[in-house]
Amino acid sequence: MEDCVFCKIASGEISSTIVYQDENVVAFKDLEPQAPKHILFIPRRHIASMADMTDADGPLLASIFTAASKVARELGLEQGYRFLTNVGPQGGQSVSHLHFHLLGGRQMKWPPG
Ligand code: IMP
Repeated sequence: MEDCVFCKIASGEISSTIVYQDENVVAFKDLEPQAPKHILFIPRRHIASMADMTDADGPLLASIFTAASKVARELGLEQGYRFLTNVGPQGGQSVSHLHFHLLGGRQMKWPPG
């Protein structure tokens, strides 16, 4: 999708520190990390948010979670981590391309802000 920063990261048009990629999923370091380890996981295909997913996206979702689990292991996050997606303005979503945050390396708090 034109003018989507995460589509541009997925295509390589905008540079990023990629930590994982396959034919459907790309993972890269967040520009403004909120934890010692902060990685974003996106589908290569533009989907605006979780609210726009359909039943057909089930295998893609499985690939994203599997990739995140693998990357978390590689990052040494055996003490645990948080994996989440923000949806829409009230959910705190600032980039309209579905993405999941992997946050780790510090104690997480609950409830989140
Ligand atoms: P959201 O607020 O859940 O939509 O998360 C968007 C995330 O994307 C934020 O944590 C930003 O720091 C991150 N971000 C925005 N632009 C870039 C970029 O060009 N590279 C890497 N991370 C980005």
